[in-house]
Amino acid sequence: MEKKYKFSIWYILLGIWVVFLIQSVLSSAFAVRTIPYSEFLNLLKQNQITEVAISANRIQGKMNVDGRDQMFKTVRVDPDISALLEQHNVTFKGQMESTVLRDLFSWIFPIILFVGIWYFLIRRMAGSQTGFMTLGKNKAKIYMENEIKVTFKDAAGVDEAEQELVEVIEFLKEPAKFTQLGGKLPKGILLVGPPGTGKTLLARAVAGESHVPFFSLSGSEFVEMFVGLGAARVRDLFEQAKQKAPCIIFIDELDALGKARGIGGMGGHDEREQTLNQLLVEMDGFDPKVGVILMAASNRPEILDPALLRPGRFDRHVLVDRPDRKGREDILRVHLRNITAAADVDVGKLAGMTPGMVGADLANLVNEAALLAVRRNKTVVSMAEMEEAVERVMGGLEKKNRLINVEERKIVAYHELGHAIVALSLPGTDPVQKISIIPRGIAALGYTMQVPTEDRFLMKKTELLSKVSTLLGGRAAEALIFGDISTGAHNDISRATDIARSMVTEYGMSSKVGQVYFSREKRPLFLDVTMGMRNEVEYSEATAQLIDQEVRQIMDEQYKVAFQILKEKKEFLEKAVHLLLEKEKIHGDELKALMGIPTQKPATTDTLVP
Ligand code: ADP
Ligand code: MG
Ligand code: ZN
Repeated sequence: MEKKYKFSIWYILLGIWVVFLIQSVLSSAFAVRTIPYSEFLNLLKQNQITEVAISANRIQGKMNVDGRDQMFKTVRVDPDISALLEQHNVTFKGQMESTVLRDLFSWIFPIILFVGIWYFLIRRMAGSQTGFMTLGKNKAKIYMENEIKVTFKDAAGVDEAEQELVEVIEFLKEPAKFTQLGGKLPKGILLVGPPGTGKTLLARAVAGESHVPFFSLSGSEFVEMFVGLGAARVRDLFEQAKQKAPCIIFIDELDALGKARGIGGMGGHDEREQTLNQLLVEMDGFDPKVGVILMAASNRPEILDPALLRPGRFDRHVLVDRPDRKGREDILRVHLRNITAAADVDVGKLAGMTPGMVGADLANLVNEAALLAVRRNKTVVSMAEMEEAVERVMGGLEKKNRLINVEERKIVAYHELGHAIVALSLPGTDPVQKISIIPRGIAALGYTMQVPTEDRFLMKKTELLSKVSTLLGGRAAEALIFGDISTGAHNDISRATDIARSMVTEYGMSSKVGQVYFSREKRPLFLDVTMGMRNEVEYSEATAQLIDQEVRQIMDEQYKVAFQILKEKKEFLEKAVHLLLEKEKIHGDELKALMGIPTQKPATTDTLVP
């Protein structure tokens, strides 16, 4: 966008100068000498006055001094001078007291001039990018792309996310086919995942695959503008999109815009809130049948305003996760297509060297290697450059604390498999879906995903105990293998303790404490003014001690159970760890196969054990 006319102080100075110029020209042209009345009478007597106009208390006229015509004016003293004028052959006329002409030139004209200059500048500014008269519209138009070349071929290692988006593509290709059957598509799809995993890429690929226009705006763009503009822009965006349907509206970095209202911001951020409200209004107002699909991306979905995630808004979430080893291999292949790589480049090996890296890092890596090759005057990029590039990119990421070292990976692998093997060995536990050592977010270095086979409303005591054992399995594995324990079990212990305490104080599952309810409601009651004040203990010191003892007893016993299981199955544990370190993510069925347990049916909801 070119900006030819910059608004600057020079325009103002130029304007002032022009006004001065005009005034000086005018004043020399209409130069009027003010003379005393006595001199006027003298001149008159010498026949030097040629012409006068007389008003109530002023005399203006032309005089001829030294053969030169000049204007003059004077204050009228004589009430009657017409006889005198006649005597000296002066043309004279009466005049109403009027200063129209003078006023016109001395201030009305400059005002018109200033207004003119101002108007001109405004027009210029409106024409340029940051104008404030025709806004919003321009920008959204600029961000509309008609033919997107990106397809799913350009995104690798995100197969699960792609599968979920296939349905959307089919809808966009033939919206009529879907709506005829009364089918309803989600209005809003939220792509969630760490930065650089390819969320923006995927959104564009959906547009590319379905050949529809793609409107994109980033959340921060809505907010940075002038006050009141964000909302207008949202309105405009939807308006334009509806005309182009079927199409996609993509809001990148939704968190910048959709932060929960009331969070972060002294006295609130009215502009952001207004924009967010407008977005909600538009989302509610539009009918997905017209074929507009709203997509958004966020790497911090937890801070989003809950109103955005409600049904009918961004209710479909697609996880775009960090790639595993196989995924990284595929991503590297995608990016290697763009450069001339030597035959010795071993993609599998590179994938093994880059745990924790996301798509953007890998793209960066390939680019670095190509730059290195250029610097070395090579015609192809060989493995040597690739390996050096890995080190460089890794170095950068280590500074950002995003990668974990080899030793930590090993601990995490044993820890997660500790959970998994205990879960597989005890009755009444949820089946293990997958085990991963790909770090997630800030806290979790790995996870074991357990999926319940059905909705549960009742839990038996044995099931609760198995749950506690499973949670403690991570730490037990660390202790068994390394003879040392880490802080990685922090969350497990807190959750296990919660279960054990509930068993004792709420469910009456401890024989020593008995079937008594001790726990106090922790939630504030509705409209209860004394919020949180009702937490005072209503049992004796002795009971408190007994409860603590019982909780500990449960924890200790279940830890022993877990430890014993792992000790017996140490051989499997080692084998599984080997596999997990190699693949970074293994399926529950693979683990079962390794342990010789027959596989079961798949399931519905997820539970994560970090
Ligand atoms: P995000 O929006 O999740 O932060 P981007 O989509 O902006 O990430 O990714 C940045 C760049 O990284 C992309 O342009 C692409 O070159 C590369 N990239 C990221 N993820 C992938 C992937 N899954 N496959 C191929 N390239 C990827
Ligand atoms: Mg992005
Ligand atoms: Zn754990």
